[in-house]
Amino acid sequence: MTSTPDEPRVAGSVASSTEGLASALAPHSPAIAQHPARVQRAAAMPPDTPHVPAVIVGGGACGMTAAIRLRDAGVDCVVLERDSVPSGSTALSSGFIPAAETRLQKSRGIPDSLALFRREIEAKSHGQAAPHLVVAYTEGVRQAIDALEAHGITFEVADTWLYPGHSVHRIHCVPERTGAALLAALGRVAAARGVDVLTEALVREIWVDESSADDRIIGVGYQRPDGTVERLACGALILACNGYGGNPALVRELLPAMAEATFGGHVGNDGSAIAWGRRLGARLADLGGYQGHGSWIIPQGALMTWAAMMEGGVQINARGERFHNENHGYSEAAVEVLAQPGGIAWNVFDTPVLDLLQTFPDFVEAQANGALRSVADEAALAAHIGCDEAALRATLAAIDPGVPDRFGRTFKRKLVGPLQAVKVTGSLFHTQGGLDIDAQCRVLREDGTPLPNLLAAGGAARGVSGNEVWGYLTGNGLLSAVGGGWLAGGTAVAMLAQESS
Ligand SMILES: Cc1cc2nc3c(=O)[nH]c(=O)nc-3n(C[C@H](O)[C@H](O)[C@H](O)COP(=O)(O)OP(=O)(O)OC[C@H]3O[C@@H](n4cnc5c(N)ncnc54)[C@H](O)[C@@H]3O)c2cc1C
Repeated sequence: MTSTPDEPRVAGSVASSTEGLASALAPHSPAIAQHPARVQRAAAMPPDTPHVPAVIVGGGACGMTAAIRLRDAGVDCVVLERDSVPSGSTALSSGFIPAAETRLQKSRGIPDSLALFRREIEAKSHGQAAPHLVVAYTEGVRQAIDALEAHGITFEVADTWLYPGHSVHRIHCVPERTGAALLAALGRVAAARGVDVLTEALVREIWVDESSADDRIIGVGYQRPDGTVERLACGALILACNGYGGNPALVRELLPAMAEATFGGHVGNDGSAIAWGRRLGARLADLGGYQGHGSWIIPQGALMTWAAMMEGGVQINARGERFHNENHGYSEAAVEVLAQPGGIAWNVFDTPVLDLLQTFPDFVEAQANGALRSVADEAALAAHIGCDEAALRATLAAIDPGVPDRFGRTFKRKLVGPLQAVKVTGSLFHTQGGLDIDAQCRVLREDGTPLPNLLAAGGAARGVSGNEVWGYLTGNGLLSAVGGGWLAGGTAVAMLAQESS
């Protein structure tokens, strides 16, 4: 057996959904060159390496959904997860999954369609979202939600507010309305279906058959907490290890606007998937796309839902001024907030919005930790913000219900005291660019042909937000993770069946 660490050997271009908008990953990017993810080329896995039909790297929503799909088809699989308890960005999220035409949504009589959902994803991305993935993921997530519900997960359709770009209620969530509860529910189903989850298993090596002309994956190597490396042979490999938001060097290189921003996601988003992709000659796409958030509560470090802005709240800077149309979206708002003095703003709202916020567990927790300041009037709010009172009064007086303001936002009502304020900054939540994949989640080479048995989905792969921060429609993250995980699991089932026949 020979095994040699593979050096980065790809110097090609980065695919982009729109010409001129690509954020290119430098061919000899130091961040990639120094990345510990390796590719080993060998004639075979070391003797006595255990074998499993499918290996999944990452135990977030994507990995767990893929594993459930595999087990539903009776295929054995192992999820390798770096943490001692699977969490990922999924457990940090609000757990809101958009889906159209699910059994649940239909039973609620909500008029929606896959076609409308697809149009709204494309509209938010200004046509940049990869069309094949928009079609595939919207169908995949519909099937996944129905199947997961049939496995006993209780979903609700959130129907008290709409996020920017969604014209109908299609956000599915578990009753607890947290990503942690969603992941726990997926974990329970996975366990009941016989999925093996191996924790404290940090995958560092992908093994490739050196005799195959097409870079066939034969296994992986993963590091244990004591530094030892164990190996597992497989017939199909699914990368469900999310993106590169937790890798500061890659963020600096690819998303300079977020270089100094707080990262709100999971530390395991270290760019492993794109590092392996580079070493395998895979194509990367939409690397400039990401989910930002303009409402990251400081100093508590928690998400404040954008529902507050959609229901009448505003963002005010240290000069007492509004600075953008808050209804465009929270992702692009991250950049707007970071451009304000001190990179901060105050979310200002009133009692009806505060009442709505009581249904969001993450806000309730932040409120309990002192994030909310309630004040009687504009004078007290100006004193709290430290801005000119006249400027603040003018800002709030300019809200003229029914009339578009200078940013193009039309309010339904004025804000009425007592006023509420929460200090926020702009944050990076997760990246939406990654390995380019086809509609079956097969990883593509530079020339567009699929690698034979390497799949990717969720944050590890290119999403459906195009190449810019403003392309992110609420829920595109879990849409890619749950919809993509479902599809990738199905593709692995088909691949393995074909191989054995
Ligand atoms: C605060 C916050 C709120 C959000 N809210 C929403 C929301 O409501 N709706 C929505 O659609 N999106 C939301 N998102 C985005 C969403 O969380 C992600 O898009 C989604 O969770 C990605 O799922 P995933 O399975 O691809 O990745 P993850 O959930 O991050 O899972 C990847 C897993 O892989 C593991 N891993 C990584 N590398 C390795 C390795 N080398 N070896 C072994 N294991 C590895 C990690 O430990 C992790 O457990 C939010 C994000 C944040 C930060």
